[in-house]
Amino acid sequence: MNQTKYIFVTGGVTSSLGKGIIAASLAKLLQARGYRTTIQKFDPYINVDPGTLNPYEHGECYVTDDGAETDLDLGHYERFLNVPTSQANNVTTGRVYLSVIEKERRGEFLGKTVQVVPHITNEIKERMQQLGKTGEFDIVITEIGGTVGDIESLPYIESVRQLIWDLGDNNSLVIHLTLVPYLAAAGELKTKPTQHSVKTLMESGIKADILVCRTEHELSSDLKHKLALFCNVSKESVIQSIDASTIYEVPNLMLEEGLDKVALKKLALPEKNTPDLKIWNQFLFRLKNPKHTVNIGLVGKYVELQDSYKSILEAFIHAGSANETKVNVISIHSEYIDRDNAVEKFRGLDGILVAPGFGGRGIEGKIETVRFARENNIPFLGICLGMQMAVIEYARNVLGWKEANSTEMNEHTPHPVINIMEEQKTITDKGGTMRLGAWKCNLTQDTLASSIYAGAKEIKERHRHRYEFNSEYLDELTRAGLTPSGVNPDTGLVEVIEIKKHPFFIGVQYHPEYKSTVANPHPLFVAFVKAAVSKKSE
Ligand code: GLN
Repeated sequence: MNQTKYIFVTGGVTSSLGKGIIAASLAKLLQARGYRTTIQKFDPYINVDPGTLNPYEHGECYVTDDGAETDLDLGHYERFLNVPTSQANNVTTGRVYLSVIEKERRGEFLGKTVQVVPHITNEIKERMQQLGKTGEFDIVITEIGGTVGDIESLPYIESVRQLIWDLGDNNSLVIHLTLVPYLAAAGELKTKPTQHSVKTLMESGIKADILVCRTEHELSSDLKHKLALFCNVSKESVIQSIDASTIYEVPNLMLEEGLDKVALKKLALPEKNTPDLKIWNQFLFRLKNPKHTVNIGLVGKYVELQDSYKSILEAFIHAGSANETKVNVISIHSEYIDRDNAVEKFRGLDGILVAPGFGGRGIEGKIETVRFARENNIPFLGICLGMQMAVIEYARNVLGWKEANSTEMNEHTPHPVINIMEEQKTITDKGGTMRLGAWKCNLTQDTLASSIYAGAKEIKERHRHRYEFNSEYLDELTRAGLTPSGVNPDTGLVEVIEIKKHPFFIGVQYHPEYKSTVANPHPLFVAFVKAAVSKKSE
């Protein structure tokens, strides 16, 4: 078997340079050349996973098929590569320490002092090679979270240094992502921050092989030469990453700059075929040449931070392209919606999505939103908490159970139409204990859900929640016109609800957005955008 090759991606100068997008773009190009490629992310924080983080901290928590709660960059990896990721693709400092401490308690280091070097670094190195050792990948790209020079990322940087040494020549390379800022007053691009950050990396014993320079203006040949000379890389290894109108443009930009070719050369791998980006470019073409425009309201409580709903926004981009439609997503704060201002807030919308979420803040606004969409025949999609709110709205306003609620919001409601799952009642730990990951769902024939999924009888979608549709109310709600069109075959839990009398009203207990990719736009989003286009042309 050939040796797996490793690419490490570090970042310098500032955070938010888009390491995840660069890693995903390079992976896309290598994949398109015929290399089996995966990406993993190592995050320097102490939470064991981002599942317990508020979205305001690091944006959305992305969920994989195997139920791992992960960094949102894994979403980019899946959207670009169309290959599922897993728990092994995201490691945090917390997870590393937890496992080392558990080993210590089991006596695995008996007699030894357990230290950052070598115990923590060994654990990191092992995890960095875990996917590579499966034999499933030719190339593993590892993104190191944070910025070089941070105290927190030091053990990762040291582990990378050792691993490069362990792996030997031509088996690994380091890409350093930096910022080349433009000083308007001087009218110049500045290389000094890049020089400093390459130097910081050198202090830890790592030489950057390739520089990817984020910039707002083209890097001239002279400037590339200067960067190459002062940062000790070849000129072809200075890659410009200019601001793009969409992240989906970046693989093409990297192809033009030759990032994949330099990387392969440094790994002593053949270039193989020219990247086959046919599907990708068709997607891009449709994205950039829309025939229609729709306005979709995204109602949630974390709307101040766009990253909170990252996968939903990306799923709309995929579905928009599939429909040759520009989807304007208009964020609407659920906390400020009430019966009096609903008409005003929702004016001009062709579709409404009620977002996932936790806790009571803003839920009355979400319920009011559902009512508005239902009564005014506006295409509606409710995701997770959004689906739960749709059930509550129906119970309150159609069945007249005025105090119907989820026990998450009101434990003493007389009509707990959404209830905590039995097995959840005794759980006290908050981390990693929800219903997580992919679960089966059977779809009822002749329903909207079934037609959206092209007649599929069984689907698998990813979950992240603690509360459920309360089956005790199933009959009454069904008789009143709320159709359960998707049910978990093993537990009987309702996963999808819809209203037949409405042109497009659907709520899903799962998160379809996690599975939407460029190559496979999610059918639910595609159908929702299509319904919005029809609504508009009425
Ligand atoms: N808070 C709800 C639950 O735990 C919904 C979660 C979500 O929207 N992801 O069931």
